[in-house]
Amino acid sequence: MKKLIIFTVFISLLLLIGSSELFNKAEIKGTYVLFTVDTEYDFPPVLNTEKGLDEGMPILLSIFEEHNVKATFLVTGEVADNRPDILMDIYQKGHEIGSHSYHHKSIKAQTKPEIENQIILSTKAIENAVGVRPVSFRAPGHSACNDLMILLQDEGYLVEASAEKINTYPYHPDENDWILEGNMSILRVPVSHTPAYFYPPTTYNRSWIDCFNKAVSEQSDKDIKVIVIGLHPWELVEIQPPDKYQSYTRACGDYTIENLTSLLNYLDNQNVKYVTLEELYYIMQE
Ligand SMILES: [Zn+2]
Repeated sequence: MKKLIIFTVFISLLLLIGSSELFNKAEIKGTYVLFTVDTEYDFPPVLNTEKGLDEGMPILLSIFEEHNVKATFLVTGEVADNRPDILMDIYQKGHEIGSHSYHHKSIKAQTKPEIENQIILSTKAIENAVGVRPVSFRAPGHSACNDLMILLQDEGYLVEASAEKINTYPYHPDENDWILEGNMSILRVPVSHTPAYFYPPTTYNRSWIDCFNKAVSEQSDKDIKVIVIGLHPWELVEIQPPDKYQSYTRACGDYTIENLTSLLNYLDNQNVKYVTLEELYYIMQE
């Protein structure tokens, strides 16, 4: 009888240790979590309205404030020029302001001088709005290319954060092929895979907590775990694009707010570290 009790206790302990929550707690501790917010007009180029900026942004900023999240807002130059009030609000709350190009146009579809112009114009617009030169960049539609890496590095940028399927962990690109690892000083910080990019539409029908745990478990071989989540201010509100774009906007509104809030409630007890793209650059240098 005594043996049976000891055996039962032993098995129960094993089950408890093996339960996913305890397992994840050990694995998640110390993970760097980056919330990156592509700050643009609503669902470009289809809508280009400002509901996300006017109504979604205050919701997002208050959720971040409640959970002590320091995030990176990658802003288009046109938003910086036209809505400096919003940029100042974000900046004063302690977040990083990066660039999302000037117009929301595909970078790789442009010539090198055109790309350079987009970088220079957006850098100036952000500097005018908040008085600080941006050092992080994400290409509209994640349309990065080799010329972009070289131009950004020349302009003093430290981080390029467009998503990319082959390398999903931060890396320094090769100057001849930005997808490969190399010796450039600029750091690529792509959005995490969960297995798709960690943006609301690609996580539809899955809990963000599960997506987060999956993304962390894929980095079990890394000393520094880095999870990059992508958001847009227009994903916090209901927007109405034509029917054929439904799959991109079905998560907009309460669905995204609820998933984001439950993930942050979960992470509140997990000892993760919220950092900006710029901060991650220096962490990865150490
Ligand atoms: Zn964008």
